[in-house]
Amino acid sequence: MELSKILDIVYEIVGDDAAQVVEYLYNNPGASEFDISENIGFAVSQIRSVLYELKAKNLIDYDRRKDKEKGWYLYYWRVLPQNFETVYLNEKKKKLEMFEERLSNEENSIYYICPNFCKRLSFEDALESNFSCTVCGTLMNEENKTRKVEMLKRNIKEHKEYLAKA
Ligand SMILES: [Zn+2]
Repeated sequence: MELSKILDIVYEIVGDDAAQVVEYLYNNPGASEFDISENIGFAVSQIRSVLYELKAKNLIDYDRRKDKEKGWYLYYWRVLPQNFETVYLNEKKKKLEMFEERLSNEENSIYYICPNFCKRLSFEDALESNFSCTVCGTLMNEENKTRKVEMLKRNIKEHKEYLAKA
């Protein structure tokens, strides 16, 4: 997979910091977190947390070597371009499931919302407070969920179309 596609995927599923780290690693395989930190300018701790997140998603891996003088291990990182396609598809599948769950939740429940936007309560909680806002006391209205439902349906359609083509 080419670098620009790889970076799009990292940007979408992990974020901008991670995309910068992956770009550097792709061009400098075997770099340590210290090399990366020096070259792209983030703190080593920040680089480490990005590396662990990428590693947890199986997008990068490391070789570990013991520093003979200091006695501790050093990590040399590399990108795993062959894994990106599968990881991305799995992320899309997870997102699709999440959208479907949220849609069914929206369709099967009623929410009440304060006209002053202090609170959004489930029907049960709203009933308990006699449909008054628990913050300001104003009478709450049933939330209009049309737009939210339409947005979820559109997301579901897009994800299904993408997965059907994959
Ligand atoms: Zn209120």
